[in-house]
Amino acid sequence: MLRIGITGGIGSGKSVVARLFAALGVPVYDSDSRAKWVMAHDEVLRAQLQAAFGPAVYDAAGQLNRSYLAQVAFNDATQLARLNALVHPRVGEDFATWTAAQVAAGYPYLLKEAALLYESGAYRGLDSIITVFAPPEVRMARVLRRDAHRASADVQAIMGKQLSEEEKLQRAEYVVYNDDSQLVLPQVLALDAAFRKG
Ligand code: ADP
Repeated sequence: MLRIGITGGIGSGKSVVARLFAALGVPVYDSDSRAKWVMAHDEVLRAQLQAAFGPAVYDAAGQLNRSYLAQVAFNDATQLARLNALVHPRVGEDFATWTAAQVAAGYPYLLKEAALLYESGAYRGLDSIITVFAPPEVRMARVLRRDAHRASADVQAIMGKQLSEEEKLQRAEYVVYNDDSQLVLPQVLALDAAFRKG
């Protein structure tokens, strides 16, 4: 079974494109939301995070305390590396379990959607990668429209931590152009047909 990654810079439209594949019946693993789920529900990881960062990682109701975690880990490279070293293996396990279920269900291929497929190294476990492309100014405008809580400096900071579009274009086996230069749906249908053939 083919395992295809789908990535793209913030605002490129990778979630929208992934949803088009999902509408065609393709199983899509959304890495961001699965990672959040695993951090909230995986008992092994919960214990590890509390041991590493203190009991305040979860609030009185047992919910993940995101602002606390952001405060202790997101602005400190060492702490962030510690957090990732705990979270990544558990999310990897979750992806493996999910993949096995898709294989058992007989799907012809699956997609793994992630903003940082190359940056995290996750691309290595996949057969090929689709990059969704849009230029930075288009992405900025989309994100400012989508996310009321983000200022342009926040978006710039996120973009600064992601590989450039040029590098992703060079590395990806497939590209979906979502920059208004081409219709998106025909590109998705062509890729879907190719992946179904294997
Ligand atoms: P990503 O997951 O890559 O950050 P999204 O898929 O959430 O990006 O798309 C960013 C925003 O831009 C969303 O609000 C989405 O609806 C919008 N968007 C995506 N593609 C287009 C397009 N071709 N034209 C107009 N808006 C788009």
